[in-house]
Amino acid sequence: MTDTSYHMTAEEFRRQGRQLVDWIADYHERRVIDLPVLSQVEPDAIRSRLPAQPPKQGEPFEVMMRDVEEILLPGITHWQSPNFYAYFPANVSYPSILGELLSAGLGVQGMLWSTSPACTELETHVLDWVVDLLGLPERFKSSGRGGGVIQDSASSAALTALLAARERATNYQSNEKGLADRPGLVAYASTQTHSSVEKDARVIGIGRANLRAIAVDENFAMRPDLLERQIREDRADGRTPFFVCATVGTTSSNAMDPLPEIGRVCREQGIWMHVDAAMSGTASVCPEFRFIHDGLELADSYAFNPHKWMFTNFDCDCFFVADRTALIRTLSILPEYLRNRATEAGAVIDYRDWHVPLGRRFRALKLWFVLRHYGAEGLRHHVRQHIAWAQALASWIAADERFELAAPAPLNLVCFRLRGSDSRNEALLERLNQSGKLMLSHTRLDGRYTLRLCVGQTHTEEHHVREAWRLIQAEGEAVSRSG
Ligand code: PLP
Repeated sequence: MTDTSYHMTAEEFRRQGRQLVDWIADYHERRVIDLPVLSQVEPDAIRSRLPAQPPKQGEPFEVMMRDVEEILLPGITHWQSPNFYAYFPANVSYPSILGELLSAGLGVQGMLWSTSPACTELETHVLDWVVDLLGLPERFKSSGRGGGVIQDSASSAALTALLAARERATNYQSNEKGLADRPGLVAYASTQTHSSVEKDARVIGIGRANLRAIAVDENFAMRPDLLERQIREDRADGRTPFFVCATVGTTSSNAMDPLPEIGRVCREQGIWMHVDAAMSGTASVCPEFRFIHDGLELADSYAFNPHKWMFTNFDCDCFFVADRTALIRTLSILPEYLRNRATEAGAVIDYRDWHVPLGRRFRALKLWFVLRHYGAEGLRHHVRQHIAWAQALASWIAADERFELAAPAPLNLVCFRLRGSDSRNEALLERLNQSGKLMLSHTRLDGRYTLRLCVGQTHTEEHHVREAWRLIQAEGEAVSRSG
């Protein structure tokens, strides 16, 4: 018998925990505003300051936090800065952070309903709420044949959709025999579809060459006529078209693929339609933006990320299917050690059958906290503000003859250029991001280097967007002066 223990005491946890919550609140409330948004460190700057070996003896928490301040903070790019406009946001909020903390505290592993019924039932319930909150088709609700599940990412959601679509198209035989007997499975996306779908196509074993990139129109939206033609050609060649990914809000320019037309093609051809609304789906908390989901009733599956624009910490992707049977039949495996009465009775959802990993944490908590804290009213308020400020920025850019808009701005992403060469625009982005005062990112549209500014940070206010525009104008001037 020994009473030696190396565990942190509850008393110490209380003390350090309170201080850490204060640290986080200070970071969000004031510190992050003054820190350079884009980390300015060189490669290896962080590792070179960390000891080569793990500690032999435990260290005090204060010492760890000192290293967070001195070593890690300089290497943090501040995604939570109100001046962060790069990529798509990964915004967070205090209720969500508290939900994460509670999830860590409960430490539940919810692979089966029986391993923590509340973990499963809250998730099912909250995802049914999300259907109503976003005005999604009723068929995604668990009360019918459909249902939702929280995944780690939109990439995983598309992977899951691809797997279920592949199995449905092969009468569940590719899970049994592999793909050797079924060459010629073909999937479709647009040239603007997120790269994760190509990665997923590689993972599911159809090969990159069997993901067709359909050309887009002048607004960067998929051309349904070309989709239909390609599908017919593939069928004529003896192939099996099985999956189309349509995007609501593409990553490069926020383009909206025409869901009604794509859905019609998929229905006629018996093809699985997945809709990826990773960031933009959140807009449909506001009834006036629900047009982005017109045609979604034709989809087999749908995903959006509250961890992008709905104030919910990474990771949280909501994935819905219209008919859960194909999904469960694709992914269900029941070894002896997981057998239990509730599962055998078929009375419960076991979310391990809804995605690739077995184990799962209690992610629904943070989403539940967010939805209850903000309510539909609060979410609408902030989403409307983000969109209004992005629209204002688009109008300022359109009115300044030194700049041009590079794509329509339907929601909160603005794509623009300084008139002139790519190198001028590269120089502009470099100057802006090196200033530390804000952060933007870039893409290529029609082969031309384009700056992207997405308004979606939790603490961004109108004055931040105005200041961002002033800085863009000033740095644009400086680039022009330097030739
Ligand atoms: N789909 C779209 C349209 C995206 O914009 C992104 C990321 O920005 C993804 C998918 C991938 O998201 P995740 O990181 O959740 O896999």
